[in-house]
Amino acid sequence: MNSLKLPVNEIGFDIDGVVADTMEAFLRLAREDHGIHGISKEHITSYWLEECLPIPEKVIEAIIERILHDPFGIRLKPIPGAIETLTKIGMENRLIFVTARPVGKPIAQWMRTQLSQVPESNIHVHATSTHAAKGKVLQDLGISCFVEDHLETCKSLALHGIKSILYDQPWNQGEAPFLRVSSWAEIRNIISL
Ligand SMILES: [Mg+2]
Repeated sequence: MNSLKLPVNEIGFDIDGVVADTMEAFLRLAREDHGIHGISKEHITSYWLEECLPIPEKVIEAIIERILHDPFGIRLKPIPGAIETLTKIGMENRLIFVTARPVGKPIAQWMRTQLSQVPESNIHVHATSTHAAKGKVLQDLGISCFVEDHLETCKSLALHGIKSILYDQPWNQGEAPFLRVSSWAEIRNIISL
């Protein structure tokens, strides 16, 4: 085993923007439900959608409500490669997901459905409601390394001694003192599996 690789039992994962292609769902719902066309993922240059998209705040809120409560109804898709790598990990290890979503149940069900080959007892989804709460939750779970797409969260995790792996997305560009990965193949390569 390559000792530079990350210990598989100490890794945790964010969900939206890392495992789930939430922005694809957002843009699709904007088109289908609200007739908003001409916006692509590259336009999402801020984590805070109202700061970067020419979409009324009320519409953004309505779409996010659906994404939070009905991942099956909106046909939320996984990011390519995520399920294969997570399945490989989860067959024999715990899988820790920590999301800032305010409700955990719908996304936990979605996760279990996606990871249908993984024993359910290995799948743990924690919903913290806030980004700031993630560090403590991860620390208590013994997680030393977290895959995340929100730059500010990565910075706050450092205060808890947790190393972040930044999942590259249009909304987290710029210099950052974190290992940046842009695919699940890259994640697979740095984990001791
Ligand atoms: Mg995220």
